[in-house]
Amino acid sequence: MMTRKPERSDMNKKNIDKVSLKKMFSNNIFAVKLLFESTPIYGTSIIIEAIRHNLINFLEQTVLVYYILNTIEKRGRFVDVLKFILIFIAADILAAVISNMYEQFIKLKYQPIAQKNLKLRLYEKAKGVDISCYDNSDYYNDFVLAVSEADRALERAENLLRQVFGSITILLCYGLFFITQDILSILFVALSFAVRTVILNILNKLNYRFRLEENKLQRKRDYIRRVFYLKDYAKEIRLNKSVTRKLHDEFREVNEDIYKLNKEYGVKRFLANLSARYISTDFFLDIIYVIYLVIKAGLYKLLSFSSVVTLYNSAANLRRGLSTVVDIGPFMIETSLYIEKIRQFLNHSNEIKDSREYEMPKEPAVLECRNVSFGYDKEKMVLKNVNITVNPYEKVALVGYNGAGKTTLIKLILRLYDPTGGTILLNGIDIRKYDLQEYRRYLGIVFQDFKIFAADIGENVVMDIVDENRSGHIVNALHKSGFDDKLKLLRDGIRTGLTREFRYDGTDLSGGEAQKLAIARIFYKDAHFALLDEPSSALDPISEYQLNQSMYNAAYDKSVIFISHRLSTTRRADRIYMMENGTIIEQGTHDELLKLKGKYYEMWDAQAGRYKEMYVS
Ligand code: ADP
Repeated sequence: MMTRKPERSDMNKKNIDKVSLKKMFSNNIFAVKLLFESTPIYGTSIIIEAIRHNLINFLEQTVLVYYILNTIEKRGRFVDVLKFILIFIAADILAAVISNMYEQFIKLKYQPIAQKNLKLRLYEKAKGVDISCYDNSDYYNDFVLAVSEADRALERAENLLRQVFGSITILLCYGLFFITQDILSILFVALSFAVRTVILNILNKLNYRFRLEENKLQRKRDYIRRVFYLKDYAKEIRLNKSVTRKLHDEFREVNEDIYKLNKEYGVKRFLANLSARYISTDFFLDIIYVIYLVIKAGLYKLLSFSSVVTLYNSAANLRRGLSTVVDIGPFMIETSLYIEKIRQFLNHSNEIKDSREYEMPKEPAVLECRNVSFGYDKEKMVLKNVNITVNPYEKVALVGYNGAGKTTLIKLILRLYDPTGGTILLNGIDIRKYDLQEYRRYLGIVFQDFKIFAADIGENVVMDIVDENRSGHIVNALHKSGFDDKLKLLRDGIRTGLTREFRYDGTDLSGGEAQKLAIARIFYKDAHFALLDEPSSALDPISEYQLNQSMYNAAYDKSVIFISHRLSTTRRADRIYMMENGTIIEQGTHDELLKLKGKYYEMWDAQAGRYKEMYVS
C-alpha cells in the first residue's frame, strides 16, 4: 500500500512551529556567545558603537533642535545658543572619531578574526564527528548548512547586538523626551507596530522556507558543477562521455526545480516584501500625527511651537526605535533557525565513545573479531558473525569479491564504526575500553581511496608539520615503502610540493607512487598493526611483486591485515580469510585453501594465468 509522503511545506511548518520561545532565546544567546567567544573586543565594540550612534542622533536631531527653537521662542540670549552649538560640534567630532576607529580599526581587524575562529571551531568539530554522520544525508545537509552559514550567523549576532542596544538607547532617550513633552504622541508612533510585526514575521518564515528548499537543490547543482570542473572526474568523463549525458539531464532537471521553486515562492515573496516595505511606512501615520499636533497646539494651545516641531521631527526616530524593537522578534526567530543547525552540529555527541579503562599494549598483540556483525543501517547487515584472529606479527589476508564486507571490517577494527553485534578484542580486551586516540595511533592504515594532501612529501608522510630532526625517519619510511626510486629523481627531496592546488610547480604522483607514499605513513608512524586496503591495486604486476616483497620484509615487526583482490599477493600470508556476503566462508593458508577447491580456488584459478609465471617461490 502506498503511504503519502509528508509534503515539504508540512514538514517545514512543523519545524518552524517547533521553535519554542525558550529555544529561540537560547539560540540567540548562543549566537551572541559565539561572537564573544571568538572575539570579546569586537562584541563589546559593537555595543558601544550602537549606543554611540543612536545617542548622538538623538542629541543632534532632537535636543539641539528643541534647545535652539525653545531659546528663540522664549527670546533667550544668542550667546547661549552659540555655546550650545559649539559643545555639540565638539561632541560630534568626538563621536566621529570613535565611529571611525570602530569602522577602520576594530571592525576591519576583528570581524575576519571572529569568522575565522568560528570556522576553525566547526572544522575542528567536523574532524572528530563519527564517520557514520557522513552516511546520514540529513546530518550531512545540516553540516553543509552550518559551515556555509557560519559567517552569516556571526553577522546575525552582530546585528542582534546592534538592534538590542540601539533600540534600548532610542527608547530611553526618545521615550523620556516624549513623556516630558506629550505622552499621547507615543500612541501615534506605536500604531505602526502591529502591522509591521505581522508582515515581517510572514516574510522571514517564507524566506527561510525558501532557502531551506533551495539549499537541497543547490547541493545537487554544486555536485554536477564539481564533476565538470574537478580534476578527479576529468579522466572518467573523457573515457565515458555518456556519463555527462545523464548529468546534463540532471542539471536541466535541477535547474527546472529551482525555477519552479522560484515560481512557487515568487508571488508570495513579492507580496510580502511589498507590504513590508510600503504598507507600514511612516507616510500614513505622519499625516494623522501632524493633524493631531496642529489641533493640540493651534486650537487648544497645549503645546509650544518648539515642541510641535521637535516632536514631529522626532516621531520618525522614535518609530524607527520602536520598529527595531518589533523587528527583533522576527529577526530572533530567523536567527534561531539558522543557529539551530550550527548548534546541533557543535553539540553533536559521538556514538563512538572514548574510554581509558585499559592501557594500550606496547607491542603487537592478538587482535580478535568475535562474532562481529554490522549494518550501516539496522535493516541490512553487511557483516554477519565474523570471526577472525590475528596473532602478533602475523600477516593475514582478507580476500573476496567486491561488496563482500572487507573494507567494512577494517573500518570496524579502526573504530570508525562500532559493531552492531559481537566484539573486537585487542590483547583480550574490548577495543572500546581503550583510549580512542591511542588505539588509533597503535594502528596504521592505507585506505583504497587514500588521499594525498596539497603539502610536501615529508608532510604527507608525517601527516603533520615536519620536525627537521626527523627527516631521516621520513626518508627511511619512504625507503621501506619502495618510494626511493622516485625520491632520488626529485630535486627537493622530501620538501617536494605535491599537487597543483597551491603551487604551479607542484608534482603529481602516479597512482602507484602515491600508494607507496601512503604506505610510508605506516612505517613513519611506527604502528604496531598495519591495515592495508588493496595496497597494491594501482601498481603494475612487477611493482606489485616488489612492493609485496619489501612490505613483508619491512613489516617484520608488525601485525598486518591486508585486503587484496589479487591472490598473488596473498600467497605468503600466514592465514587467508575468504569473505562472501559479509561472512567468512573459508580460511587457511594459500596451499590449504587451494586444496579445498572452494571459492578461493575458483578465484585463484581465474587469476592465476596472469601471475603463474612470475611468482615461483
Ligand atoms: P568490500 O571492501 O569487500 O568491497 P565493503 O565493505 O566496501 O566491501 O562493502 C560491503 C557492503 O556494504 C556493500 O554492499 C556496500 O555497498 C555497503 N556499504 C559500504 N559502505 C557503505 C556506507 N557508507 N553506507 C552504506 N552501505 C555501505
